Amino acid sequence: MTDKLHARTRAIHDGTRRSQYGEVSEALFLTQGFVYDSAEHAEQRFLKSGPDEFIYARYGNPTVAMFEDRIASLEGAEDAFATASGMAAVSGALTSILRAGDHVVSARALFGSCLYVLEEILTRYGVEVTFVDGADLDAWDAAIRPDTKVVFFESVANPTLDVVDIEAVSKLAHKQGALVVVDNVFATPVFSKAISQGADVIVYSATKHIDGQGRVLGGVVLGTRDFIRGTLEPYMKHTGGSMSPFNAWVMLKGLETMSLRVHAQAAAALEVASALEGHAKLARVVYPGLKGHAQHALAIKQMEQGGTVIALDVKGGKEAAFKFLNALTIGVISNNLGDAKTILTHPATTTHQRLPQEQKDTLGITDGLVRVSIGLEHAGDLIADFTAALEAV
Ligand SMILES: *Cc1c(COP(=O)(O)O)cnc(C)c1O
Repeated sequence: MTDKLHARTRAIHDGTRRSQYGEVSEALFLTQGFVYDSAEHAEQRFLKSGPDEFIYARYGNPTVAMFEDRIASLEGAEDAFATASGMAAVSGALTSILRAGDHVVSARALFGSCLYVLEEILTRYGVEVTFVDGADLDAWDAAIRPDTKVVFFESVANPTLDVVDIEAVSKLAHKQGALVVVDNVFATPVFSKAISQGADVIVYSATKHIDGQGRVLGGVVLGTRDFIRGTLEPYMKHTGGSMSPFNAWVMLKGLETMSLRVHAQAAAALEVASALEGHAKLARVVYPGLKGHAQHALAIKQMEQGGTVIALDVKGGKEAAFKFLNALTIGVISNNLGDAKTILTHPATTTHQRLPQEQKDTLGITDGLVRVSIGLEHAGDLIADFTAALEAV
């Protein structure tokens, strides 16, 4: 469909491929392979296959292609490749571009596994990585060199919610000819304008808001057709990180409701953050949608909203944070985000446990910090639950 239509409309219809039965809801092609009419036909297909000609589900599948086309349309990207998880997307995007001797500049505040890929894996293959404070444009400028191949960051960092200025960092990167790879999970495809802001490659964990109901793992890499088909696809299809057709079908249906869900979650996140701001038991309420957040103006410029995740710093460290978590009756203790259920995480002892104390200190991952992914419950019920649990501290 034409991109003159609103994203909500495109999220319902774009990418649809109907079989000979004319089904309304997208079909689940749960097949790894495809039958050829003849040996010559198979030979031809392997030589060159069109957009609706499939060979093997690791290379592509009609249900997966529907998901890829629909998310590419929503993001305003030329093309997309769906992956088995968000980490398959992050590692595939980086590894397909980089080779020994290349230089990468990355923001320091990252999801634990992203940090592991950059710090432990890429360096093992001779890639040099420089980490900077993502909010400090002078630090980016000083670190990006003529031989820098990739600049990588989470546009809103997990779990500290630092916002990185996509437009400004992209300008600095492009000046030196580096590609900008953005992990855009916290912005969600609903609030993202990353391509018009200068990002070259955008990565999502579809496990989060795209599924949105905590069922399956998935990821997606978006970019130019040249990049997706020329650089990424050969890497992904030969190393095996493709999305399963079943998961793609769940994600496709997720895209239909994503805008409604994410808007409702962001509105509730703002209500909850506003209600808890200044609470006597909290040292900090971190939410980019709050006027008091140091990067509020940037967050609004970049995403229009503060997103669906807030961070609470409970006074009294780990013991107090655990008391708060254990006293909740609606919010659940887990580690996903973007789910219909409100999920609370204690990063210092779970997702970011691996980090040395000194690094946690630099990143602001304190012992009292609790990450809160706001779900689809009534905001008033959540505020009552959090307030009562804080009484227990
Ligand atoms: C969850 C997450 C990932 C990894 O996604 P998976 O689907 O769990 O592999 C990567 N980046 C960020 C910012 C995330 O929140």
